Amino acid sequence: MAEGIDLDSLREFLGRHARLFVLTGAGVSTDSGIPDYRDADGEWKRPSRPVQFREFMTDLATRKRYWARGVVGWQHLHRAAPNDAHRALARLERAGRVELLVTQNVDRLHQAAGSEEVVDLHGRADVVRCMSCERRIPRADYQAELVGLNPAWAGLGARAAPDGDADLAGADYESFRVPDCAACGGTLKPDVVFFGESVPRERVERAMQALAHADAALVIGSSLMVFSGYRFARAASELRKPIAAVNLGRTRADELLTLKVEATCARALAACIA
Ligand SMILES: [Zn+2]
Repeated sequence: MAEGIDLDSLREFLGRHARLFVLTGAGVSTDSGIPDYRDADGEWKRPSRPVQFREFMTDLATRKRYWARGVVGWQHLHRAAPNDAHRALARLERAGRVELLVTQNVDRLHQAAGSEEVVDLHGRADVVRCMSCERRIPRADYQAELVGLNPAWAGLGARAAPDGDADLAGADYESFRVPDCAACGGTLKPDVVFFGESVPRERVERAMQALAHADAALVIGSSLMVFSGYRFARAASELRKPIAAVNLGRTRADELLTLKVEATCARALAACIA
């Protein structure tokens, strides 16, 4: 069957290229129960567009809605555990095969699985940052504060989304209380890169350096629809590095790929990485 042939090709690709630049996206975490943003055609599949950076920073109503949904969604994200895909990539690193793992996920599941050389391209959902004084606090602490101020919201069930957000159709967010930074009164924001916000340059530079040293690139569970990820496929192609991708559905870089495996990440990686 086709998938068997694909997996043989992936094993061969992994055998041929000693040092890998690994880029992962939401598809790596779907088997941990964290839903993907996009369907097989790369289209957005949630009912509402994600919150935009400028809107979050300038509009209190947006922050109320964001954090109210976050209180519910984070309970789900917080409980997620690594799956076979995370574990296989951690084994690959221990075998000395990973130049660097760059992830678009904010769930920290690669680190939980044992990967050490990781760039969290889009930040981390388990940290909250003050946009005025740069103070950082654990999301768990902020969660406790939010729940304390808004006890009625904590019990609400909702469909969880990848960034710990949740869809609560028709909810009234007006009464939700959002505490500001205890040190300076500044606006608190998850330490993740929002839409409309750029990825910090040092993360991109570290990733590009690793890519330059790698023999090949491995894209796992990303449609590369967002430029922050796509640029690495484009750079790999410009550097004439072979690229293999494991993803269900199309990617923005399909025409740049040396090998494409349409399978779930956990299944493909567990089968191909000893
Ligand atoms: Zn502050």
